[in-house]
Amino acid sequence: MVDYSTMTNETFDTILREVVEEHRHTLLTIPGVYEILSEHFNNEVLERWEHGKPDADRRFVDGSEIVLTGPSPEAWENLDYETQDDLLLWYNQTEVGPEDMERLADLHNEGQFHAFGCGWCQKRVVEGQPDDWSNFQGVLQMESIGQLCEECASKYLSLKAFAEME
Ligand SMILES: [Zn+2]
Repeated sequence: MVDYSTMTNETFDTILREVVEEHRHTLLTIPGVYEILSEHFNNEVLERWEHGKPDADRRFVDGSEIVLTGPSPEAWENLDYETQDDLLLWYNQTEVGPEDMERLADLHNEGQFHAFGCGWCQKRVVEGQPDDWSNFQGVLQMESIGQLCEECASKYLSLKAFAEME
């Protein structure tokens, strides 16, 4: 028998988040989930329908609406959805045009952008290092240490310092 008593609620939640993320495409088929989500996101669904634009042109990244004005360049189309979202999160603009998409795609393809989920809190950490910052004013630059976001990294460092005092 495995002893689960040492598992904290936090650890359980972290693993649960991973599982949910992996099953996101089938979540609606779980009994009860459809009812809750369709009610909760009712207005958002109606707003999107009302706007009448294809889904690809309107995104919700980290809760904020972003409008992509076409036509989207091929380099952008070739990126997977998650990478696009990471780039949009970092770019931090509510309206993104073809030139912006091209620049963001280039940045990613030249290896000057990276993103990952914080090892502790799962928050997306997005960092860009463009050669020329003039087109990237107002980005949501996040610092990280190792695989942790800035916030968790500072928590980690203070815990470590505390442990070393003992
Ligand atoms: Zn974190």
